[in-house]
Amino acid sequence: MNDSPTEVLARLRAMQSGDVPVHGGRTLAYVYDSGLGEVDRVAREAVAAYAGSNGLDPTAFPSLLTMENDLVAFAARLVDGPDTVVGSVTSGGTESVLLAVQGARDAFPGVERPAMVLPETAHAAFHKAAHYFGVEAVLVPVGDDFRADVAATARALDELGDRAVLVVAGAPSYAHGVVDPVIQLAALAAARGIRCHVDACIGGWVLPYAARLGRPVPPWTFAVEGVTSVSVDLHKYAYAPKGTSVLLHRTPALRRPQFFASAAWPGYTMLNSTMQSTRSGGPVAGAWAAVRSIGDAGYEKLTQEVFDAVDAIVAGTAGIPGLHVVVAPDSTLVALATDTSCDPFTVSDEMAARGWYVQPQLSFGGLPATIHLSVSAATRPHVPELLTALAESARAAQEAGPVAVDPGVAAYVAALDPTTLTDADFDGLLLAAGLVGDGPGLDLPTRMAEVNALLDLASPALREAVMVSFLDRLQRPSAGPTP
Ligand SMILES: *Cc1c(COP(=O)(O)O)cnc(C)c1O
Repeated sequence: MNDSPTEVLARLRAMQSGDVPVHGGRTLAYVYDSGLGEVDRVAREAVAAYAGSNGLDPTAFPSLLTMENDLVAFAARLVDGPDTVVGSVTSGGTESVLLAVQGARDAFPGVERPAMVLPETAHAAFHKAAHYFGVEAVLVPVGDDFRADVAATARALDELGDRAVLVVAGAPSYAHGVVDPVIQLAALAAARGIRCHVDACIGGWVLPYAARLGRPVPPWTFAVEGVTSVSVDLHKYAYAPKGTSVLLHRTPALRRPQFFASAAWPGYTMLNSTMQSTRSGGPVAGAWAAVRSIGDAGYEKLTQEVFDAVDAIVAGTAGIPGLHVVVAPDSTLVALATDTSCDPFTVSDEMAARGWYVQPQLSFGGLPATIHLSVSAATRPHVPELLTALAESARAAQEAGPVAVDPGVAAYVAALDPTTLTDADFDGLLLAAGLVGDGPGLDLPTRMAEVNALLDLASPALREAVMVSFLDRLQRPSAGPTP
């Protein structure tokens, strides 16, 4: 080791070339691209300038406090925050969701077995929160429109009685891109004196602009009575560098249980607003730089661009045999399903072969397997190519026919009980599925359709167990340092 700066940077660039691109509008999950090169440059410079600064102590780094308050104020205006609204910048949507759940739990310390009611389409981050904080997640189905079933939510709350501390709504849901009936869900929470969190991690920075542009947007902000907190990710549609989200609360009192102080040791009194303690100033400065550079008018323009792209994708898909949009999107996420002539996993592989990264989503309960597209402003100029690639991919998938899993294997997988499987069983499963090779190191298959088709047959518990053992195999230093 001990490489020269030139060698280190060259090596980084070489490694990065194996990742999906973060620019160019062809990566339709994980990354959000404004297409504004100058904004990205300024934001990256801000990240670099603050990479060593520590948000742990706002009195030592007052500039970070100023930036955080600026970001919270901007977000609060977007989501109709009243004068009392307060917020915190977190490391991402998951942390915002975790804190919303932790705050709801700790607001009701007398409740012994706290529970929250979620639409089945709620982000997996809520299940992580359930796991971390011991808050039971009670799932209610969505209707034919993929939106939370209000009557089922009311029934679930009645059954839970005093155990319920939180009702969750999505604006929009990640998997299908539609906004839940927030007015009704928030009213159910308010009537019971409990919290209602609107997860606008992915919609929070575009839906307000969509409404300004005259698009029909169902109500979901603090303008809705009963909404107590809202999460909005900056590293999604604020087009900020990765590592920031905002969690807003209607009042300081609602935020209070989120704060943590400890003087129970001989060091500094630890005082934290979020889960992190030492917090890099980089992401906060990067987000601040992006938001200042783009500004209100810039976001309105980017929102127009991204919805132009969404509308064109929805309209163009209607003409592609084998594919359809599962539900008209309220926001900038499009879920595509196939008819029986082909399958979404093969279409996803075919897209990848054509240089487009789209995200396969497995079937869940009664919900079909789909292809997820998080559309970015930078995708707009490439929509004609995207539609051509989709049409070609669907045709290729139809020619191949729906991906088949051997009936014997299917029966075997359906009968597996993840709680009884050993490490050796998982090794065998991962090898059989083609997810790992014989040797050490990363040896992923280029085509994932067979793997996804197999996982699609597995129960959620088995999917989780297989993926965890997969990750366990991936994260091994024995794979060796890069040469
Ligand atoms: C992305 C997302 C999250 C989780 O955010 P991360 O930034 O990935 O941690 C939560 N909810 C919704 C709706 C999201 O889209």
